[in-house]
This record gives sequence, structure tokens and C-alpha cells, in this order.
Amino acid sequence: MKRTLLSALLTGVLVYAATPVSAATDTVKPAITILATGGTIAGSSASNTDTTDYKAGSLGIDVLMKAVPEMNDVATVKGEQISNTISGNISSSILLTLSKRINGLLGSEGQQGVVITHGTDTIEETAFFLDLTVKSDKPVVLVGAMRPATAISADGPMNLLEAVTLAADSKAQKRGVMVVLNDRIGSAFYTSKTNSTTLDTFKAYDPGYLGVFVSGKPKFYFTPAQPVDRNFFDVSKLNDLPPVEILYSYQDQLPAMLDAAVQSGAKGIVIAGSGNGNVSSKMEQAIKQLSEKGVPVVMSARTGSGYVSTKSFAIGAGFLNPQKSRILLQLALASGADLKQTAQYFDSQR
Ligand code: ASP
Repeated sequence: MKRTLLSALLTGVLVYAATPVSAATDTVKPAITILATGGTIAGSSASNTDTTDYKAGSLGIDVLMKAVPEMNDVATVKGEQISNTISGNISSSILLTLSKRINGLLGSEGQQGVVITHGTDTIEETAFFLDLTVKSDKPVVLVGAMRPATAISADGPMNLLEAVTLAADSKAQKRGVMVVLNDRIGSAFYTSKTNSTTLDTFKAYDPGYLGVFVSGKPKFYFTPAQPVDRNFFDVSKLNDLPPVEILYSYQDQLPAMLDAAVQSGAKGIVIAGSGNGNVSSKMEQAIKQLSEKGVPVVMSARTGSGYVSTKSFAIGAGFLNPQKSRILLQLALASGADLKQTAQYFDSQR
């Protein structure tokens, strides 16, 4: 049976309005701001079984907030629309806007935390960028959904409630930026999207999750900790980030693709290499020549997890996957780091 978006939302609002509201207390609720950027969590479709061809980024933050009145029980929530688009359209300029706004909000004493609604496709890039550029112990939580708001069993409303609950929880402080979906709490540094369509797509294969939601409450596995190689970059004066391209590696890869990237404006290159960041001998030679000309090349892995060590001809990405390596290389270039300093950013454990 098909339902229109309006009737689906109205049903949701009526059901939510009928749920009991907790008794008023005189304690002040934590102030949380939701910065909305779009994605499937704000997606809609004419069909309630459509989970692939819907329009992501079509509902505004006011609609998302109205669908989850329960968040008003845990926090005083405000919403701001930063963009409303698929996450493939999130640009350096939007990243910088987000980071500056979050640093500004969290700098104010009354603000407890920030939630960012985002498309899941590139949520890990934004989360990682914010992890390296927000200077605060207060919680910053990214949240998305795998099913649009109009789908049967849409996951967005519960995910959003959990994200706001987490941001409002004092136990969530000093844990870096976090990602919440499917009842799981992951660190922005390590969490990655691993499946193109399923609800349990977000994983951090070796490091694992930070915690889990049980009946609306966050339960952490560990006391607060920081990723070993996490650095801080001040982006308050930046209006753009240097372009960095990612090249996926495979048998018989053409070294000419490196030159094509540089000629197109890339100031640095990340290679999604095979195994421990490996490429063919011809590619190695071409990468070495590029590094000697001062263009930093970072070897990451197309494996989806694991560590990439530094090579004689290029920087190793350590534990960072190609898309996160690209963000770190952009920040290193923007900070004016030389090759040695850039290598240290990637693997300060060495
Ligand atoms: N499929 C995506 C999502 O889960 C769309 C996007 O990333 O914007 O939100």
C-alpha cells in the first residue's frame, strides 16, 4: 500500500503526540543544535518500499525535528539548515562552514553539544574532517539513515533521537567526533561505510565500536580515549582546501593517470593501493618522480581495513582509508607542512 509523504508524516506526528511526555522538572536541559546537511535521513519517495530511488536531501530540518518530539525530553534542541543535498555534493566549502559553526557554537558555555544530519555515503569524510578541526571536549555527533523518511521502518527518527541523546550526555565528552546509526556509536576517526545498502553498514573493523544504545540510553564499552594519530588543524582562517585526488590501483594501471591528476590541479595524491598500499614497479617509479618534484603521494589501501606502512617512494597512510587520507593530506597541505611533517601527521606512532 502506498502512502503519501504528508500522510506518513502526519501519522508519525499523531503517534508521537500520543506518547506520554515525562513530567516537567526544574532542571535545565542541555542545549543541542542540529546542523542539517541533507542525505537519506531527509529523503522522500512516493513509495514506502523504495529504499534506492528516493530523493535524498528533500525534507527540511523543521520536518525532521517535528517527527521526533521525544528529543525535547532530553534536550533543548534548535535546528539550522546548512545545506540540503546528497552527501556526494558536500564540498570543502561546506566542510569549512560546518567546522567554523561548530567551533563557534561549542565555544559558548551554554551549548552542550552539536548533531549533524548527513548523507551516509560520505559521512565518514565529514566526520573525520570535523574530528581534526573542532577544538572542544563537548560531543559532536554525526547521524544519517539508510532508509528515507517515507519508508516503512525508516531508521532516521530513532537514529536522530539517539544522536541528540548522545550529544546531551555528559559521558559522551572527550571522545572525539562520533557517528551514530543502527544503535551503534562509532569514532569518526575509524568508522567507515562498508555496505552500500544495508542498515548495519557502519563498522570500524579492527578498533570496534565505542558503544551501543540500549533502550534509548548510550552504553559505552570504554572510558574516554583519543585515537593515537589524531592531530588538530586550525581552519578558522581558511576559505578553501587544496585539491587532492584519489587514484584506485589495479593490475596494469597507467602511470600517466598521475600526471593527469596533477595537470588537473591536484596538489597531492592518494593511492588506493593493493594489500599494504602496493602498486606496480612502473607506478612506483612514477610516484617517486612525483614526490621528488614536491607533490606528496600517500599510499593507502583498497582493502577496506588494515595498516599501510611508509615506503621508500611515498608516505604510508597508517590506519587511514583512502577517503580519510585525502582529508588529512588536504589539511596538511593547507597548513603548509613539508613532506617530512606530512608523513608524521599520517603516522605519528612511528
Ligand atoms: N544514500 C545516501 C545516504 O544514505 C545518500 C547520501 O549520502 O546523501 O544518505
